[in-house]
Amino acid sequence: MTSSAAPQHMVTRFAPSPTGRLHVGHGWSALLAHDMARASMGTFCLRIEDIDGTRSRPEHVEGIVEDLNWLGIGWDGDIIFQSQRLDRYNAALDRLREEDLLYPCFCTRADIQASMIAPHGPEGPVYPGACRTLDDAQRVRRMEAGEPHAWRIDVAAATARVGTLHWNALPFPLDAKAEPQPVLAAPTVHGDVVLARKDAPASYHLSCTLDDAAMAVSHVLRGDDLRGATDIHRLLQALLGLPSPVYIHHPLLVGADGRRLAKRDGSLALAELRESGVDPAALADALRAGRFPVGIRPASA
Ligand code: GLU
Repeated sequence: MTSSAAPQHMVTRFAPSPTGRLHVGHGWSALLAHDMARASMGTFCLRIEDIDGTRSRPEHVEGIVEDLNWLGIGWDGDIIFQSQRLDRYNAALDRLREEDLLYPCFCTRADIQASMIAPHGPEGPVYPGACRTLDDAQRVRRMEAGEPHAWRIDVAAATARVGTLHWNALPFPLDAKAEPQPVLAAPTVHGDVVLARKDAPASYHLSCTLDDAAMAVSHVLRGDDLRGATDIHRLLQALLGLPSPVYIHHPLLVGADGRRLAKRDGSLALAELRESGVDPAALADALRAGRFPVGIRPASA
């Protein structure tokens, strides 16, 4: 064995949910992740996060492929579809259940909203924990009666098991000379998040964490809106013995009104720009240089 570690092969990914057409912000994010890998002879992967059967649409998968091709973004290997990886998510759920870290939650959205004591975390209302205190007999009775339920992680028990955690972050804008810095993970502020939904086989948190590890993703580059999710992903990595990538969070793009771009803003869709005759190479170069279409800017600038 030698004492010097071989440099890590860089693997980045773009992981859209096929719930609409990609907008300029998605294009920017995909370009950043793509270029980061290419600059270090690394691998860039495309993962379609399509386990939300109620919102994911095959035509949007086609749209994503079309939009990325148009922008000149090529990926390595086959496209990964989360809908084809449900066994892996179920195996991880079984493991966490066996370790007594999950509990069934029968609360409806209305129940949770009606709870006057529900505090708010960075990502909305924090689950007040009503179902955490049910005893085993109550849980079994309600599940056997076919009551719809999600599975939540007991975040206090989970964090007690793994102790204080950090994730490694690189700053944005990217700086080739910067070294990753540890950031304290704060999973408890999000409460007992759902890991398996009533209407979907797994939650984003679980599938994303498992897939980033399975795909050997070394650097996760994604929007600032998912900074809080990283707290939870770090906790899941520790519980499931998975490696932790380096995280880079980039600002979201906002429009002239200060509101962040969303898939509903059709006029900012890449497909719309294509139809209006925009040159994709010029657009990609502009985005790379941090120049955005008129009226659009990164949130923090
Ligand atoms: N699928 C998520 C989205 O479209 C992104 C997941 C991620 O990059 O971790 O917002």
